[in-house]
Amino acid sequence: MAEKVIAVVGGTGSQGSGLVRAILDRPDSGFRARVITRDATSKKAQALTAAGAEVVQADLDDVDSLIAAFAGAHGAFCVTNYWEHMSPEREMAQAKNLATAACEAGVRHVVWSTLEDTRRWIPLEDDRMPTLMEHFKVPHFDAKGQADAFFAEAGVPTTLLLTTFYWDNLVHFGMEPQRGDDGGLVFALPMGDAKLAGIAAVDIGRCAFGIFKGGDAFIGKTVGIAGEHLTGAEMASALGEALGEPVSYVAVPFDTYRSFGFPGADDMGNMFQFYHDFNDVFTGARDVELSRRLNPELHSFRDWLDERGGEIPRH
Ligand code: NAP
Repeated sequence: MAEKVIAVVGGTGSQGSGLVRAILDRPDSGFRARVITRDATSKKAQALTAAGAEVVQADLDDVDSLIAAFAGAHGAFCVTNYWEHMSPEREMAQAKNLATAACEAGVRHVVWSTLEDTRRWIPLEDDRMPTLMEHFKVPHFDAKGQADAFFAEAGVPTTLLLTTFYWDNLVHFGMEPQRGDDGGLVFALPMGDAKLAGIAAVDIGRCAFGIFKGGDAFIGKTVGIAGEHLTGAEMASALGEALGEPVSYVAVPFDTYRSFGFPGADDMGNMFQFYHDFNDVFTGARDVELSRRLNPELHSFRDWLDERGGEIPRH
């Protein structure tokens, strides 16, 4: 039987590369990976070519390039990168291009990497948290959640994949423990005593592979994934073991976090408040056992620390 091609948007990125590598690691699975990138000559794209993946160029802002890149594919993993432009309108336009291209190319299974439209739980007039950019509470969530409808409207067979906070943010996003005034290490997070649904970024793509393998059983379904649900104090304790010295947890107030001043601090502050205030909704939608069935190699936080703890910046 012919192999089923999975076109992987963001195949050079955190989410998509996990899927590409999972497919490459199982040459007998009946699936084949096609990486979609804007630059097939980049180091990451060339490494994937060398590892055996097909690599094609397309741009999320150019629907025709996506139609060509999806041609002949059985499946498409679709992700947008909000943080590159920080425009919810552009993220939605890119998602619409993905849905249109999947429809035009006759893709039989789309996995759309999405997040909640938080306005379902916290409407704009609710002043517990500020409204941002006039129309959003958590712009990088709301835009993705609003874009879910494009896939339904395009009539493409879709699984909505609810992703979650990457533990890899401790390596790349400045979220590592910092030295406090007393010289001790402090893990600061605006989560109060609530649990954070976290995941190793690589497991997102691996779970998506499980969904493509499951096929029809997942079409029309929403699947929420996580590696573990942990409080800030539990994460600090595991971080202390990994870093070889005690780490204390500080629950930063949401307003303080929003005022930190880095680009997107207000968006992230609202996101953490959503995680906290609607904790049952958020963690409840992310099923660790289902994630492990989709991806038996799923990392717990300690597994992830064993693998990547050495890359956490030290202060
Ligand atoms: P990433 O590692 O930063 O990589 C971005 C990927 O997107 C690259 O593969 C890039 O491909 C591709 N890309 C970006 N713009 C493109 C365009 N115009 N056309 C074609 N490809 C484009 O990204 P990621 O972490 O996998 O995914 C980012 C998304 O994850 C964001 O929207 C974010 O909101 C969401 N998310 C993040 C977290 C977290 O904790 N950090 C949690 C849940 C969800 P090339 O550069 O090769 O073209």
